[in-house]
Amino acid sequence: MTGSCIFCKIAAKEIPSDIVFENADVIAFKDLSPQAPTHILIIPKTHISTTEDINDSNSNIAGRMIFAASEIAKGLKLEGYRLVFNCNEIAGQTVFHVHCHLLGGRNFGWPPG
Ligand code: 5GP
Ligand code: ZN
Repeated sequence: MTGSCIFCKIAAKEIPSDIVFENADVIAFKDLSPQAPTHILIIPKTHISTTEDINDSNSNIAGRMIFAASEIAKGLKLEGYRLVFNCNEIAGQTVFHVHCHLLGGRNFGWPPG
């Protein structure tokens, strides 16, 4: 899986991306097809396919991803923002390496549709 995964390649810097944040556990980069003025993807550096694959032994990564999103949003001085994890195709997941969308810079409706 890791060998063919585009986000693993981005994490390994084998594929270029516009990186905005990085630490030991996560890397964040601009979405190629932004859905808002700010649209950043936060991913774990290790491969996890979906949120369904988060378990007792790796669940700390979820907190690290959200903490990274919060730090990025503060740095960008976003007034508010939306964090999205799509899980499986029915929810719109197209890349099967878990990622958190950080969306900001516009108003967002609820329910999300
Ligand atoms: P999903 O639909 O799986 O929740 O989100 C995947 C996101 O990854 C999409 O918003 C898509 O635009 C973005 N994406 C897909 N391939 C690439 C890529 O090669 N580089 C970057 N920066 N974003 C990508
Ligand atoms: Zn991967």
